[in-house]
Amino acid sequence: MSVVKFRTIFRGSNPRGTPYVEEAIFSCREAKRRGLAPGTSGNVSVRTPRGFLISVANTALGTIKQNEFVEVVGLERTPLELVVYVYGKQEPSSETPLHWAIYQARPDVGAILHLHDDFVRSVPAYFLDIPFTWTQQQSGTWALVQEVLFLLRQHPNAQYFILQGHGVVSTGKTAEAAIKQAVKIHRKANRYKRQEKK
Ligand SMILES: [Zn+2]
Repeated sequence: MSVVKFRTIFRGSNPRGTPYVEEAIFSCREAKRRGLAPGTSGNVSVRTPRGFLISVANTALGTIKQNEFVEVVGLERTPLELVVYVYGKQEPSSETPLHWAIYQARPDVGAILHLHDDFVRSVPAYFLDIPFTWTQQQSGTWALVQEVLFLLRQHPNAQYFILQGHGVVSTGKTAEAAIKQAVKIHRKANRYKRQEKK
């Protein structure tokens, strides 16, 4: 998704948190290998002491590099616009407001993966026993953020949920935990598909 629905203000050019980036890169490669991040879809973030590091806009997760992360340190919502404060040189992922809101709502979350797992989406949500958003909202919008905050209030311990008509979000204490969980649920969906064929 290339439509940017917020304004970025660059506070400085140097993001901090190299150790976190390495773990995020590992989870991205794994996501790509498992077919969970086709094309330039998906984004990843990891919490840092002053905010979070997130993949930049329009990046292919499978080949992402250290310099394709920026650090988000704040978000401001006025009646007219959304403003995101960033350390780095490139635009952050279009789903930055979503990541920001999840970190605010859930202090236990240390990493977030947003993936396009069509497999999971094609299996009935009740089979996987996974919460999903009630309405479909456009990527990168505040309406989507509100849907997710509503879902998190209904399911305060949810670590994984489905964005209706769009994709999935897997969270964890670490990026490694988030990708392991995403792969596990992908496999469960796969089992359902195979049963269905029999
Ligand atoms: Zn998406």
